Amino acid sequence: MRKIAIYGKGGIGKSTTTQNTVAGLAEMGKKIMVVGCDPKADSTRLLLGGLAQKSVLDTLREEGEDIELENIRRGGYGGTWCVESGGPEPGVGCAGRGIITSINMLESLGAYEECEGLDYAFYDVLGDVVCGGFAMPIRDGKAEEIYIVCSGEMMAMYAANNICKGIRKYAESGKVRLGGLICNSRNVDNEAEMIKALAEKIGTQMIYFVPRDNDVQRAEINRKTVIEWNSDAPQAHHYRALAKAIDENKEFVIPNPLQIEELEQLLLDFGLLAA
Ligand code: ADP
Ligand code: MG
Repeated sequence: MRKIAIYGKGGIGKSTTTQNTVAGLAEMGKKIMVVGCDPKADSTRLLLGGLAQKSVLDTLREEGEDIELENIRRGGYGGTWCVESGGPEPGVGCAGRGIITSINMLESLGAYEECEGLDYAFYDVLGDVVCGGFAMPIRDGKAEEIYIVCSGEMMAMYAANNICKGIRKYAESGKVRLGGLICNSRNVDNEAEMIKALAEKIGTQMIYFVPRDNDVQRAEINRKTVIEWNSDAPQAHHYRALAKAIDENKEFVIPNPLQIEELEQLLLDFGLLAA
């Protein structure tokens, strides 16, 4: 089983990209579990057709410790399993705690065991790796393969670079590796070239360039991935191609994060900052 975590700045498109890619992998016949690691609990909505998924933390709060696998995971598009970690009440406690609790719970309930036949587990993790809870999937070896969703916007690149610092820190003592940057386009000038250059400097690859396309919103309003909503849409083919690129990926590295000056120089070189 490949254990993949998707990181990136908030709002960059992690949940959208994860679910659409998972739909592509499911079409290829892969068996996948998606674990939402964002207190917003919106990581599996498109795969579940909008059904409100009760989070692991909510289930624990309401039903106590004595729960079964079927209480915390639901079947979604293409035979996927969907789990939402959930989070504490806003303003109370550490939001990362849900991830730790959920993964431990899934492990003890046997969700990862051989008999479940999983090819992939995907963790959709919010934000930068600043707090221990959100670093947990990479720190404790729960995820071994990381993809960072970014765009050519400075803050997205800045976050991607920070996440690389987190990966590097844990890669030296563990198995976690970076599999690549996924550019989720914001239609920035020279975006693909710039993200390719950033990837090269970090020592990785831009594994795919996902165009910006309003079909993503159209599918989202219908609570579906693009692949399910309109199988022939150009964007559906892009997500299939990204799924294939991940499925065939062999390039796993310990990233070399850039100094802030190098990052700024890159933006200057590609004409995004005035000199
Ligand atoms: P995150 O999980 O990183 O916080 P989301 O996946 O929720 O981000 O994406 C934020 C919004 O961006 C979504 O509402 C989605 O419709 C939109 N979006 C993401 N990727 C694309 C894309 N390639 N084209 C158009 N809209 C997109
Ligand atoms: Mg999200």
